[in-house]
Amino acid sequence: MSARLEIADLRVAYGRAEAVAVDRLVVEPGTLSGIIGANGAGKSTLINAVANWSRAEPRVAGSVRLDGEELTGLSAEARVARGVQLVPEGRGVFLGLSVEENLTAVASAGSGRRAWSVADVYALFPRLRERRANLAGSLSGGERQMLAVGRALRMAPKLLLLDEPSIGLAPLLVSTLLSTIRDLVDDGLTVLLVEQNVHAAAEVTDVLHLIERGRLVAGGPVAVMRDDPRIVEAYLGAN
Ligand code: ATP
Repeated sequence: MSARLEIADLRVAYGRAEAVAVDRLVVEPGTLSGIIGANGAGKSTLINAVANWSRAEPRVAGSVRLDGEELTGLSAEARVARGVQLVPEGRGVFLGLSVEENLTAVASAGSGRRAWSVADVYALFPRLRERRANLAGSLSGGERQMLAVGRALRMAPKLLLLDEPSIGLAPLLVSTLLSTIRDLVDDGLTVLLVEQNVHAAAEVTDVLHLIERGRLVAGGPVAVMRDDPRIVEAYLGAN
């Protein structure tokens, strides 16, 4: 059981400033889509709106559906219960709790087909088992990211939303983490990933979308998008 995400006519504004205007975005079940774009293009605003998670309480209009069910108007908690899990930029772990406490503090809340046990998470990220007694605040950036993903999996997601998981990670860790995410997708999870690291995103995604000033200006299968002049010029030109 995996989930289909369908966004239509989504508008998100902070005060009078419109940050996102997306007419249509679909993530098919069991696929990995990436949103790429420059700083301030609206990537976080878009992904946060799917989870209804934001400290800034932006104004949101439009439609966000999961398997046909309208999520707009539902609280963040109600979306979690339907299997929507966001790993926000900055990672969302409790720094004052140990690794293991972070993993045990969450009960399976979602409706995904698999509620991950703590042992399952350790099997996926053996490094976390080694550091189980350490405070999350003492972890490296990569370990903290693994912990954030592990916490999200504990909550039985159908749809995993990842905001720049590669930030601050060494290149090898980025590819290890993203290939682990890819394995989860191949196992049936639906993932929407926000990435500034276009090379890394292009390695693992099925579909890439380019966002500029809040609008999706190009999108398609990654094999096609790799050759899109807008992406080559802006992001891949040097290689
Ligand atoms: P980055 O990669 O730098 O995180 P982003 O693509 O995720 O950028 P957003 O953070 O979504 O972009 O920002 C989109 C636009 O909304 C920007 O113009 C930004 O200044 C504005 N914005 C974001 N958060 C707020 C906020 N809390 N209050 C007001 N404006 C905001």
